Amino acid sequence: MHPLNRPTRVAEQSPGEDLTEAFDYLIVGAGFAGSVLAERLAAGLDKRVLVVDRRAHIGGNAYDHHDEAGVLVHRYGPHIFHTNSQRIVDYLSRFTEWRPYEHRVLAVVDGQQVPIPINRTTLNALYGLSLASDEEAERYLAGRAEPVATIHTSEDVVVNQIGRELYEKFFRGYTRKQWGLDPSQLDKMVTSRVPTRTNTDDRYFTDTFQQMPLHGYTRMFERMLDHPNITIQLDTDFRQVRDEVRYGHLIYCGPVDEYFDHCFGKLPYRSLKFEHRNLDQAQFQAVATVNYPDEAVAYTRISEYKHLTGQQHPSTSITYEYPSAEGDPYYPIPRPENAELYKRYEQLASQTEGVTFLGRLGTYKYYNMDQVVGQALALYKRIEQAHSGDPAADLEHDQSPARQAT
Ligand code: FAD
Ligand code: UDP
Repeated sequence: MHPLNRPTRVAEQSPGEDLTEAFDYLIVGAGFAGSVLAERLAAGLDKRVLVVDRRAHIGGNAYDHHDEAGVLVHRYGPHIFHTNSQRIVDYLSRFTEWRPYEHRVLAVVDGQQVPIPINRTTLNALYGLSLASDEEAERYLAGRAEPVATIHTSEDVVVNQIGRELYEKFFRGYTRKQWGLDPSQLDKMVTSRVPTRTNTDDRYFTDTFQQMPLHGYTRMFERMLDHPNITIQLDTDFRQVRDEVRYGHLIYCGPVDEYFDHCFGKLPYRSLKFEHRNLDQAQFQAVATVNYPDEAVAYTRISEYKHLTGQQHPSTSITYEYPSAEGDPYYPIPRPENAELYKRYEQLASQTEGVTFLGRLGTYKYYNMDQVVGQALALYKRIEQAHSGDPAADLEHDQSPARQAT
Protein backbone atom coordinates (compact mmCIF):
# COMPACT_ATOMS: atom_id res chain seq x y z
CA MET A 1 0.00 0.00 0.00
CA HIS A 2 1.27 3.46 -0.81
CA PRO A 3 2.34 5.19 2.43
CA LEU A 4 -0.22 7.89 1.74
CA ASN A 5 -3.00 5.43 1.10
CA ARG A 6 -4.04 5.10 4.69
CA PRO A 7 -7.47 3.68 5.51
CA THR A 8 -10.12 6.31 6.09
CA ARG A 9 -11.20 7.01 9.62
CA VAL A 10 -14.75 6.16 8.64
CA ALA A 11 -13.75 2.51 8.68
CA GLU A 12 -12.65 2.88 12.27
CA GLN A 13 -16.10 3.93 13.42
CA SER A 14 -18.43 1.42 14.96
CA PRO A 15 -22.10 1.11 14.05
CA GLY A 16 -24.43 3.18 16.09
CA GLU A 17 -21.75 5.70 16.85
CA ASP A 18 -22.71 9.33 17.09
CA LEU A 19 -23.53 10.56 13.62
CA THR A 20 -21.39 13.66 13.71
CA GLU A 21 -19.65 14.09 10.39
CA ALA A 22 -16.56 11.95 10.02
CA PHE A 23 -14.91 14.50 7.76
CA ASP A 24 -15.52 18.19 7.48
CA TYR A 25 -14.52 18.07 3.81
CA LEU A 26 -14.36 15.45 1.11
CA ILE A 27 -11.96 16.55 -1.63
CA VAL A 28 -12.04 14.77 -4.98
CA GLY A 29 -8.67 14.98 -6.75
CA ALA A 30 -5.17 15.08 -5.25
CA GLY A 31 -3.69 17.43 -7.87
CA PHE A 32 -2.74 21.05 -7.22
CA ALA A 33 -6.33 22.18 -6.65
CA GLY A 34 -7.31 19.47 -4.18
CA SER A 35 -3.97 19.22 -2.38
CA VAL A 36 -3.56 22.96 -1.78
CA LEU A 37 -7.08 23.24 -0.44
CA ALA A 38 -6.68 20.13 1.74
CA GLU A 39 -3.48 21.52 3.24
CA ARG A 40 -5.04 24.90 3.97
CA LEU A 41 -8.22 23.49 5.50
CA ALA A 42 -6.27 21.04 7.65
CA ALA A 43 -3.46 23.32 8.78
CA GLY A 44 -5.25 26.67 8.68
CA LEU A 45 -8.69 25.78 10.07
CA ASP A 46 -8.05 22.45 11.79
CA LYS A 47 -10.60 20.73 9.51
CA ARG A 48 -10.69 16.99 9.00
CA VAL A 49 -10.25 16.29 5.32
CA LEU A 50 -10.55 13.16 3.21
CA VAL A 51 -8.85 13.38 -0.20
CA VAL A 52 -9.71 10.73 -2.78
CA ASP A 53 -8.14 10.25 -6.19
CA ARG A 54 -8.93 7.56 -8.71
CA ARG A 55 -5.31 7.40 -9.75
CA ALA A 56 -2.74 5.40 -7.80
CA HIS A 57 -0.77 8.51 -6.86
CA ILE A 58 -1.02 12.07 -5.61
CA GLY A 59 0.02 15.15 -7.62
CA GLY A 60 -2.53 14.97 -10.44
CA ASN A 61 -1.02 15.75 -13.81
CA ALA A 62 2.10 17.18 -12.17
CA TYR A 63 3.06 13.75 -10.78
CA ASP A 64 6.73 12.82 -11.25
CA HIS A 65 8.62 9.66 -10.35
CA HIS A 66 11.86 7.80 -11.03
CA ASP A 67 11.49 5.48 -14.00
CA GLU A 68 13.03 2.02 -14.17
CA ALA A 69 16.40 3.45 -15.14
CA GLY A 70 16.30 5.85 -12.19
CA VAL A 71 15.66 9.05 -14.16
CA LEU A 72 13.14 11.50 -12.67
CA VAL A 73 10.33 11.83 -15.25
CA HIS A 74 6.89 13.43 -15.46
CA ARG A 75 4.26 10.81 -16.18
CA TYR A 76 1.89 13.30 -17.83
CA GLY A 77 4.35 15.33 -19.88
CA PRO A 78 6.79 18.10 -18.97
CA HIS A 79 5.62 20.47 -16.21
CA ILE A 80 7.54 23.70 -15.85
CA PHE A 81 6.68 25.98 -12.97
CA HIS A 82 6.49 29.67 -13.82
CA THR A 83 4.58 32.54 -12.24
CA ASN A 84 4.60 36.24 -11.55
CA SER A 85 3.03 35.77 -8.14
CA GLN A 86 5.31 36.11 -5.12
CA ARG A 87 2.41 34.97 -2.95
CA ILE A 88 2.12 31.67 -4.79
CA VAL A 89 5.87 31.07 -4.67
CA ASP A 90 5.91 31.85 -0.94
CA TYR A 91 3.09 29.41 -0.32
CA LEU A 92 4.66 26.53 -2.27
CA SER A 93 8.07 27.27 -0.73
CA ARG A 94 6.70 25.91 2.55
CA PHE A 95 6.84 22.47 0.94
CA THR A 96 9.83 22.57 -1.37
CA GLU A 97 13.14 24.14 -2.16
CA TRP A 98 13.68 25.19 -5.75
CA ARG A 99 16.04 24.73 -8.65
CA PRO A 100 16.25 27.78 -10.95
CA TYR A 101 15.31 26.69 -14.45
CA GLU A 102 14.43 28.68 -17.57
CA HIS A 103 12.64 26.66 -20.23
CA ARG A 104 13.86 26.80 -23.82
CA VAL A 105 12.12 25.21 -26.80
CA LEU A 106 13.24 24.62 -30.37
CA ALA A 107 10.87 23.98 -33.28
CA VAL A 108 11.78 21.83 -36.26
CA VAL A 109 10.88 23.97 -39.29
CA ASP A 110 12.21 23.61 -42.83
CA GLY A 111 14.74 21.05 -41.62
CA GLN A 112 16.24 23.37 -39.01
CA GLN A 113 15.84 23.60 -35.24
CA VAL A 114 14.98 27.22 -34.45
CA PRO A 115 13.80 28.98 -31.28
CA ILE A 116 10.08 29.20 -30.48
CA PRO A 117 8.57 31.67 -29.46
CA ILE A 118 9.68 33.19 -32.76
CA ASN A 119 12.36 35.80 -32.08
CA ARG A 120 15.02 37.64 -34.09
CA THR A 121 17.31 34.61 -34.08
CA THR A 122 14.47 32.52 -35.52
CA LEU A 123 13.88 34.96 -38.37
CA ASN A 124 17.58 35.30 -39.17
CA ALA A 125 18.10 31.52 -39.19
CA LEU A 126 15.01 30.74 -41.23
CA TYR A 127 15.41 33.40 -43.92
CA GLY A 128 19.21 33.96 -43.92
CA LEU A 129 18.72 37.50 -42.61
CA SER A 130 20.90 39.64 -40.37
CA LEU A 131 18.30 41.67 -38.51
CA ALA A 132 20.38 43.44 -35.89
CA SER A 133 17.88 45.31 -33.70
CA ASP A 134 14.35 45.14 -32.34
CA GLU A 135 13.38 47.92 -34.74
CA GLU A 136 14.64 46.01 -37.77
CA ALA A 137 12.82 42.88 -36.69
CA GLU A 138 9.66 44.86 -36.00
CA ARG A 139 9.78 46.39 -39.49
CA TYR A 140 10.39 42.97 -41.00
CA LEU A 141 7.39 41.43 -39.22
CA ALA A 142 5.20 44.44 -40.01
CA GLY A 143 5.98 43.78 -43.67
CA ARG A 144 4.72 40.20 -43.29
CA ALA A 145 1.74 40.83 -40.97
CA GLU A 146 -1.73 40.58 -42.51
CA PRO A 147 -3.94 42.84 -40.38
CA VAL A 148 -7.21 41.25 -39.24
CA ALA A 149 -9.97 43.74 -38.40
CA THR A 150 -11.39 41.90 -35.38
CA ILE A 151 -9.31 39.25 -33.73
CA HIS A 152 -11.38 36.32 -32.48
CA THR A 153 -9.55 33.13 -33.26
CA SER A 154 -6.15 31.52 -32.78
CA GLU A 155 -5.56 31.99 -36.51
CA ASP A 156 -6.46 35.70 -36.45
CA VAL A 157 -4.08 36.54 -33.65
CA VAL A 158 -1.03 35.00 -35.32
CA VAL A 159 -1.72 35.99 -38.93
CA ASN A 160 -2.37 39.55 -37.76
CA GLN A 161 1.03 39.65 -36.10
CA ILE A 162 3.39 37.69 -38.34
CA GLY A 163 1.53 36.83 -41.54
CA ARG A 164 0.30 33.62 -43.07
CA GLU A 165 3.61 32.02 -44.02
CA LEU A 166 5.11 32.00 -40.52
CA TYR A 167 1.70 31.08 -39.13
CA GLU A 168 1.58 28.01 -41.34
CA LYS A 169 5.16 26.99 -40.55
CA PHE A 170 4.92 27.28 -36.75
CA PHE A 171 1.29 27.27 -35.68
CA ARG A 172 -1.19 25.72 -38.09
CA GLY A 173 0.09 22.15 -38.12
CA TYR A 174 0.99 22.03 -34.44
CA THR A 175 -2.40 23.37 -33.42
CA ARG A 176 -4.34 21.07 -35.73
CA LYS A 177 -2.50 18.10 -34.23
CA GLN A 178 -2.72 19.29 -30.62
CA TRP A 179 -6.41 20.16 -30.62
CA GLY A 180 -7.84 18.21 -33.55
CA LEU A 181 -9.16 21.58 -34.75
CA ASP A 182 -7.96 24.27 -37.11
CA PRO A 183 -6.70 27.40 -35.28
CA SER A 184 -9.61 29.28 -36.89
CA GLN A 185 -11.93 27.18 -34.68
CA LEU A 186 -10.14 27.96 -31.41
CA ASP A 187 -10.32 30.96 -29.14
CA LYS A 188 -7.45 33.42 -29.60
CA MET A 189 -6.20 32.70 -26.08
CA VAL A 190 -4.71 29.38 -27.21
CA THR A 191 -2.01 30.60 -29.60
CA SER A 192 -1.71 33.89 -27.69
CA ARG A 193 0.10 31.84 -25.05
CA VAL A 194 3.08 31.85 -27.41
CA PRO A 195 4.12 35.44 -28.22
CA THR A 196 6.38 36.71 -31.00
CA ARG A 197 9.49 38.66 -30.03
CA THR A 198 11.70 41.09 -31.84
CA ASN A 199 14.61 40.67 -29.42
CA THR A 200 16.77 37.57 -29.01
CA ASP A 201 15.22 36.33 -25.76
CA ASP A 202 14.83 32.63 -26.43
CA ARG A 203 13.19 31.68 -23.13
CA TYR A 204 9.76 30.08 -23.44
CA PHE A 205 8.42 32.07 -20.48
CA THR A 206 9.25 35.55 -19.24
CA ASP A 207 7.69 35.25 -15.77
CA THR A 208 9.54 36.63 -12.75
CA PHE A 209 9.74 33.18 -11.15
CA GLN A 210 10.85 30.21 -13.23
CA GLN A 211 11.92 27.27 -11.12
CA MET A 212 11.42 23.57 -10.52
CA PRO A 213 10.76 21.89 -7.16
CA LEU A 214 14.24 20.74 -6.15
CA HIS A 215 13.22 17.18 -5.30
CA GLY A 216 10.33 17.00 -7.75
CA TYR A 217 6.59 17.71 -7.66
CA THR A 218 5.57 14.50 -5.94
CA ARG A 219 7.91 15.16 -3.00
CA MET A 220 6.37 18.63 -2.72
CA PHE A 221 2.85 17.15 -2.68
CA GLU A 222 3.86 14.57 -0.08
CA ARG A 223 5.00 17.34 2.23
CA MET A 224 1.89 19.39 1.54
CA LEU A 225 -0.44 16.51 2.40
CA ASP A 226 1.51 15.25 5.39
CA HIS A 227 -0.85 16.46 8.12
CA PRO A 228 -2.66 14.51 10.84
CA ASN A 229 -6.01 16.00 9.75
CA ILE A 230 -5.62 14.74 6.17
CA THR A 231 -6.56 11.22 5.12
CA ILE A 232 -5.79 10.13 1.58
CA GLN A 233 -7.41 7.33 -0.32
CA LEU A 234 -5.91 6.53 -3.71
CA ASP A 235 -7.31 4.25 -6.43
CA THR A 236 -10.70 5.51 -5.33
CA ASP A 237 -13.30 7.09 -7.55
CA PHE A 238 -15.68 9.59 -6.00
CA ARG A 239 -18.58 7.36 -7.05
CA GLN A 240 -17.24 4.56 -4.85
CA VAL A 241 -17.35 6.66 -1.70
CA ARG A 242 -20.04 9.25 -2.29
CA ASP A 243 -22.67 7.31 -0.38
CA GLU A 244 -20.36 5.76 2.19
CA VAL A 245 -18.36 8.63 3.57
CA ARG A 246 -19.95 11.19 5.82
CA TYR A 247 -18.70 14.68 5.17
CA GLY A 248 -19.82 18.27 5.57
CA HIS A 249 -18.84 19.80 2.26
CA LEU A 250 -17.59 18.47 -1.06
CA ILE A 251 -14.77 20.05 -3.09
CA TYR A 252 -14.83 18.52 -6.56
CA CYS A 253 -11.72 18.85 -8.76
CA GLY A 254 -12.75 16.28 -11.39
CA PRO A 255 -14.57 17.11 -14.65
CA VAL A 256 -17.67 19.16 -13.83
CA ASP A 257 -19.77 17.53 -16.57
CA GLU A 258 -18.98 14.07 -15.18
CA TYR A 259 -20.24 15.13 -11.74
CA PHE A 260 -23.60 15.96 -13.30
CA ASP A 261 -23.68 12.73 -15.38
CA HIS A 262 -23.19 14.77 -18.58
CA CYS A 263 -26.78 15.96 -18.28
CA PHE A 264 -26.27 18.72 -20.87
CA GLY A 265 -23.92 16.59 -23.00
CA LYS A 266 -20.17 16.00 -22.74
CA LEU A 267 -17.81 18.93 -22.34
CA PRO A 268 -15.02 18.37 -24.87
CA TYR A 269 -11.53 17.74 -23.50
CA ARG A 270 -8.37 17.00 -25.45
CA SER A 271 -6.23 14.08 -24.40
CA LEU A 272 -2.67 12.91 -25.06
CA LYS A 273 -0.90 9.59 -25.31
CA PHE A 274 2.54 9.72 -23.75
CA GLU A 275 5.28 7.49 -25.09
CA HIS A 276 8.04 7.34 -22.49
CA ARG A 277 11.49 6.04 -23.45
CA ASN A 278 14.79 5.62 -21.70
CA LEU A 279 17.85 5.86 -23.95
CA ASP A 280 21.31 4.54 -23.31
CA GLN A 281 22.99 7.88 -23.89
CA ALA A 282 23.60 10.86 -21.63
CA GLN A 283 21.72 13.42 -23.74
CA PHE A 284 19.18 13.23 -26.56
CA GLN A 285 18.48 16.82 -27.62
CA ALA A 286 19.90 20.32 -27.07
CA VAL A 287 16.99 21.67 -24.99
CA ALA A 288 14.23 20.27 -22.78
CA THR A 289 11.54 20.39 -25.47
CA VAL A 290 11.65 20.20 -29.26
CA ASN A 291 8.38 20.95 -31.08
CA TYR A 292 7.35 19.36 -34.37
CA PRO A 293 4.77 21.62 -36.07
CA ASP A 294 4.79 19.52 -39.26
CA GLU A 295 1.42 17.80 -39.61
CA ALA A 296 3.12 14.82 -41.25
CA VAL A 297 4.79 13.99 -37.90
CA ALA A 298 2.24 12.36 -35.58
CA TYR A 299 3.62 13.71 -32.30
CA THR A 300 3.71 17.38 -31.28
CA ARG A 301 6.82 17.47 -29.12
CA ILE A 302 9.60 15.49 -27.48
CA SER A 303 10.77 16.43 -24.00
CA GLU A 304 13.92 15.36 -22.19
CA TYR A 305 13.64 15.60 -18.43
CA LYS A 306 17.26 15.92 -17.35
CA HIS A 307 17.26 19.47 -18.73
CA LEU A 308 14.43 20.33 -16.32
CA THR A 309 15.71 18.51 -13.27
CA GLY A 310 19.47 18.89 -13.64
CA GLN A 311 19.82 15.21 -12.79
CA GLN A 312 23.18 13.60 -13.61
CA HIS A 313 22.65 10.13 -15.02
CA PRO A 314 24.42 8.04 -17.67
CA SER A 315 21.12 7.43 -19.49
CA THR A 316 18.34 9.84 -20.42
CA SER A 317 14.54 9.69 -20.52
CA ILE A 318 12.28 11.36 -23.05
CA THR A 319 8.56 11.58 -23.77
CA TYR A 320 6.74 11.84 -27.09
CA GLU A 321 3.30 13.47 -26.95
CA TYR A 322 0.64 12.18 -29.33
CA PRO A 323 -2.58 14.19 -29.14
CA SER A 324 -5.77 12.17 -28.96
CA ALA A 325 -9.52 12.56 -28.71
CA GLU A 326 -9.73 9.55 -26.38
CA GLY A 327 -8.24 9.12 -22.94
CA ASP A 328 -7.88 11.11 -19.72
CA PRO A 329 -9.20 14.66 -19.95
CA TYR A 330 -6.12 16.90 -20.02
CA TYR A 331 -7.13 20.09 -21.81
CA PRO A 332 -10.44 21.95 -21.76
CA ILE A 333 -10.88 23.11 -25.37
CA PRO A 334 -11.26 26.91 -25.54
CA ARG A 335 -13.87 27.76 -28.16
CA PRO A 336 -17.18 29.61 -27.97
CA GLU A 337 -19.58 26.66 -28.11
CA ASN A 338 -17.70 24.90 -25.31
CA ALA A 339 -17.75 28.04 -23.19
CA GLU A 340 -21.53 28.18 -23.73
CA LEU A 341 -21.95 24.57 -22.69
CA TYR A 342 -19.73 25.10 -19.64
CA LYS A 343 -21.91 28.06 -18.63
CA ARG A 344 -24.87 25.72 -18.31
CA TYR A 345 -22.90 23.44 -16.00
CA GLU A 346 -21.60 26.45 -14.09
CA GLN A 347 -25.17 27.61 -13.54
CA LEU A 348 -26.19 24.16 -12.31
CA ALA A 349 -23.11 24.06 -10.07
CA SER A 350 -24.06 27.36 -8.50
CA GLN A 351 -27.47 25.90 -7.58
CA THR A 352 -26.02 22.73 -6.08
CA GLU A 353 -25.81 22.98 -2.31
CA GLY A 354 -22.80 21.64 -0.46
CA VAL A 355 -20.41 21.31 -3.42
CA THR A 356 -17.71 23.63 -4.72
CA PHE A 357 -15.97 23.00 -8.04
CA LEU A 358 -12.29 23.77 -8.38
CA GLY A 359 -9.30 23.32 -10.69
CA ARG A 360 -8.70 22.81 -14.37
CA LEU A 361 -11.40 20.17 -14.77
CA GLY A 362 -13.81 21.42 -12.12
CA THR A 363 -14.02 24.89 -13.64
CA TYR A 364 -13.17 23.94 -17.25
CA LYS A 365 -10.32 26.44 -17.53
CA TYR A 366 -7.03 26.10 -19.43
CA TYR A 367 -5.08 26.98 -16.27
CA ASN A 368 -1.39 26.62 -15.56
CA MET A 369 -0.29 25.17 -12.23
CA ASP A 370 0.25 28.55 -10.59
CA GLN A 371 -3.23 29.69 -11.59
CA VAL A 372 -4.75 26.59 -10.02
CA VAL A 373 -2.78 27.24 -6.81
CA GLY A 374 -4.07 30.83 -6.90
CA GLN A 375 -7.63 29.64 -7.43
CA ALA A 376 -7.40 27.21 -4.49
CA LEU A 377 -5.87 29.84 -2.18
CA ALA A 378 -8.63 32.29 -3.13
CA LEU A 379 -11.31 29.72 -2.33
CA TYR A 380 -9.62 29.00 0.98
CA LYS A 381 -9.65 32.69 1.82
CA ARG A 382 -13.40 32.80 1.30
CA ILE A 383 -13.89 29.73 3.48
CA GLU A 384 -11.67 31.25 6.16
CA GLN A 385 -13.64 34.49 6.08
CA ALA A 386 -16.92 32.59 6.31
CA HIS A 387 -15.47 30.71 9.26
CA SER A 388 -14.54 33.88 11.05
CA GLY A 389 -18.13 35.07 10.78
CA ASP A 390 -17.94 37.40 7.81
CA PRO A 391 -21.47 36.92 6.41
CA ALA A 392 -20.46 38.31 3.02
CA ALA A 393 -18.13 35.37 2.60
CA ASP A 394 -20.38 32.55 3.82
CA LEU A 395 -19.56 29.55 1.63
CA GLU A 396 -22.91 27.90 2.26
CA HIS A 397 -24.55 30.90 0.63
CA ASP A 398 -22.06 31.00 -2.20
CA GLN A 399 -21.93 27.72 -4.06
CA SER A 400 -20.48 29.22 -7.19
CA PRO A 401 -17.51 27.55 -8.81
CA ALA A 402 -14.31 29.01 -7.44
CA ARG A 403 -13.54 32.34 -8.99
CA GLN A 404 -10.36 33.03 -10.90
CA ALA A 405 -7.71 34.20 -8.54
CA THR A 406 -4.68 35.37 -10.41
P1 FAD B 1 -5.36 17.66 -12.12
O1 FAD B 1 -3.90 17.74 -11.96
O2 FAD B 1 -5.93 17.11 -13.39
O3 FAD B 1 -5.94 16.81 -10.90
C1 FAD B 1 -7.27 16.35 -10.85
C2 FAD B 1 -7.25 15.00 -10.16
O4 FAD B 1 -8.61 14.61 -9.93
C3 FAD B 1 -6.63 13.90 -11.00
O5 FAD B 1 -5.53 13.32 -10.30
C4 FAD B 1 -7.77 12.91 -11.23
O6 FAD B 1 -7.34 11.54 -11.19
C5 FAD B 1 -8.69 13.22 -10.07
N1 FAD B 1 -10.11 12.89 -10.35
C6 FAD B 1 -10.87 13.35 -11.37
N2 FAD B 1 -12.11 12.84 -11.29
C7 FAD B 1 -12.11 12.01 -10.19
C8 FAD B 1 -13.10 11.20 -9.58
N3 FAD B 1 -14.36 11.09 -10.07
N4 FAD B 1 -12.77 10.48 -8.48
C9 FAD B 1 -11.51 10.56 -7.98
N5 FAD B 1 -10.54 11.32 -8.50
C10 FAD B 1 -10.85 12.04 -9.59
N6 FAD B 1 1.08 23.85 -16.15
C11 FAD B 1 2.14 24.66 -15.90
O7 FAD B 1 2.03 25.58 -15.07
N7 FAD B 1 3.34 24.47 -16.54
C12 FAD B 1 3.54 23.46 -17.43
O8 FAD B 1 4.64 23.31 -18.00
C13 FAD B 1 2.44 22.59 -17.70
N8 FAD B 1 2.58 21.59 -18.59
C14 FAD B 1 1.53 20.75 -18.83
C15 FAD B 1 1.71 19.70 -19.73
C16 FAD B 1 0.68 18.83 -20.00
C17 FAD B 1 0.89 17.72 -20.98
C18 FAD B 1 -0.58 19.01 -19.33
C19 FAD B 1 -1.72 18.06 -19.62
C20 FAD B 1 -0.77 20.04 -18.44
C21 FAD B 1 0.28 20.93 -18.18
N9 FAD B 1 0.14 21.98 -17.26
C22 FAD B 1 1.20 22.81 -17.02
C23 FAD B 1 -1.15 22.22 -16.56
C24 FAD B 1 -1.19 21.53 -15.18
O9 FAD B 1 -1.10 20.13 -15.38
C25 FAD B 1 -2.50 21.89 -14.50
O10 FAD B 1 -2.62 23.29 -14.34
C26 FAD B 1 -2.64 21.29 -13.09
O11 FAD B 1 -2.14 19.99 -13.01
C27 FAD B 1 -4.11 21.30 -12.74
O12 FAD B 1 -4.30 20.82 -11.42
P2 FAD B 1 -5.75 20.32 -10.98
O13 FAD B 1 -5.63 19.89 -9.57
O14 FAD B 1 -6.77 21.33 -11.35
O15 FAD B 1 -6.07 19.06 -11.94
N1 UDP C 1 1.62 26.29 -30.48
C1 UDP C 1 1.95 26.09 -31.81
N2 UDP C 1 3.24 25.80 -32.13
C2 UDP C 1 4.21 25.68 -31.20
C3 UDP C 1 3.88 25.88 -29.84
C4 UDP C 1 2.57 26.18 -29.52
O1 UDP C 1 1.08 26.17 -32.68
O2 UDP C 1 5.36 25.41 -31.56
C5 UDP C 1 0.22 26.63 -30.17
C6 UDP C 1 -0.62 25.35 -29.97
O3 UDP C 1 -1.94 25.64 -30.37
C7 UDP C 1 -0.53 25.16 -28.48
C8 UDP C 1 -0.62 26.60 -28.00
O4 UDP C 1 0.14 27.34 -28.96
O5 UDP C 1 -1.56 24.36 -27.99
C9 UDP C 1 -0.13 26.85 -26.61
O6 UDP C 1 1.19 26.35 -26.49
P1 UDP C 1 1.76 25.91 -25.06
O7 UDP C 1 3.20 25.53 -25.22
O8 UDP C 1 1.42 26.95 -24.06
O9 UDP C 1 0.88 24.59 -24.80
P2 UDP C 1 0.77 23.62 -23.53
O10 UDP C 1 2.08 23.67 -22.80
O11 UDP C 1 -0.37 24.12 -22.74
O12 UDP C 1 0.50 22.30 -24.14
